[in-house]
Amino acid sequence: MDNRQMVLREIPKIDELLMDEQLIFFMETTPRAVVVDAAREVIEEIRKDALAGTRTEVPKREAIVEEICRRITGKKKKNLKRLINGTGVVLHTNLGRARLCRGAVESVLSVADSYSNLEYDVKKGARGSRHDHVEQIIRRITGAEAAMVVNNNAAATMLCLSAMAYGKEVIVSRGELVEIGGSFRIPEIMEQSGAHLKEVGTTNKTKPSDYERAWNPETTGALMKVHTSNYRILGFTQEVTLKEMAALGKKMGLPVIYDMGSGLMADLSRYGVDEPTVTDALKDGADVVLFSGDKLLGGPQGGIIIGKKEYVDRMKQHPLARAFRVDKMTIAAMEATFFEYLDMEDAVKNIPVLRMIAEGRETLEKKAEALAKLLASMAPGADIHVEDCYDQVGGGSAPTVRLKGAAVSIVLPGTTAEKLERLLRKAEVPVIARVAHDRTLLSVRTIEESEFACVAEAFCQAAKSEERKGE
Ligand SMILES: *Cc1c(COP(=O)(O)O)cnc(C)c1O
Repeated sequence: MDNRQMVLREIPKIDELLMDEQLIFFMETTPRAVVVDAAREVIEEIRKDALAGTRTEVPKREAIVEEICRRITGKKKKNLKRLINGTGVVLHTNLGRARLCRGAVESVLSVADSYSNLEYDVKKGARGSRHDHVEQIIRRITGAEAAMVVNNNAAATMLCLSAMAYGKEVIVSRGELVEIGGSFRIPEIMEQSGAHLKEVGTTNKTKPSDYERAWNPETTGALMKVHTSNYRILGFTQEVTLKEMAALGKKMGLPVIYDMGSGLMADLSRYGVDEPTVTDALKDGADVVLFSGDKLLGGPQGGIIIGKKEYVDRMKQHPLARAFRVDKMTIAAMEATFFEYLDMEDAVKNIPVLRMIAEGRETLEKKAEALAKLLASMAPGADIHVEDCYDQVGGGSAPTVRLKGAAVSIVLPGTTAEKLERLLRKAEVPVIARVAHDRTLLSVRTIEESEFACVAEAFCQAAKSEERKGE
């Protein structure tokens, strides 16, 4: 008999393994299916190696059980988990965009584990509307006539076009046919909505007369302006401002829709962010304004629609509104986020996105020094110091703005910057760092002081790691 078969024969049976005391102990707190899956996985791997001839003996029983226990622990961890953003990109789309403010988190918790008046009017004791909870506060903050919230800005755009211009032409400048990433392209959304795109102008220049020429009283349904949130066209350019478009819309008797992307509410120009604000958009005469909840607004994922009541009402009654409707947790977080804007100074202090953007160079440097000191105390051989860096707003907002920040720069002797970056990602709470000029950088703009201990733990583990020494 060849060695392979001998090895295969020695592999313990799953049923036998499941009688192991340690695994029985696990089953008290873990679903049996998870334990069985883990055991199967480990045994299957041993069998495969044996068949391939890469394993010449079966591991000891204790070693097998130990490995199964390790897998069980792994399987019980959730896939979606918190991590630490050391990239300095405030609205990192891959890392979940906006961190919510405390008030939003508390509101979510309070409605999540109990019943709520989501669609119930407590005063009247009768059915209510889920739109009402956020509509009041959004109207109060933005000054709009009406408001509603859907799943995201992509859904808001789709619903708006469908409700306002189904089967009609919508005129958009060629300079504003944006792609936001992840397959959001204005022409494609337009097609899906049932409205027909009528492009005017050129990539770099569009004039009011272009809209006038494209206008057909029979077939045109709306004018639309899209904020080129994630790029800028510089040089020989001309765009039709929202004000000019509003005037055109009035003349033609057509509604003007403005997809502004980032819903900036507070004036951040003194921090170098000169994005248009929501109130400006209404003042300039847009009939409907659409923006994201989790970009510069700093709230949960959502698409906010504000503007003239007749249009918003039409959207509320549209069948797509049901498909795009938000759940109670989003409504709770959105309402609480807007509440912070009742006092702009509070908003900049309490909404993490705004606070991080507003954070000054000096504060950041002090923060970075504290983190550098902590990390240096854990790896005496490492070169750890504070460096200037440039951070970004991110999330496809303010693409040309570079925020002056401070980063902790780490060089571990014998370990490349890329390797350290990878090891930091492996931590229990992963730390996402940047690599530049052979150094691993942790920008402190996006790291809270309360997270320093986690960063330290990840760094300590990385510095001690066998994998690091093995290279
Ligand atoms: C980001 C953005 C969108 C998409 O918003 P989501 O909330 O991510 O769906 C649409 N239009 C513009 C102009 C944007 O900047």
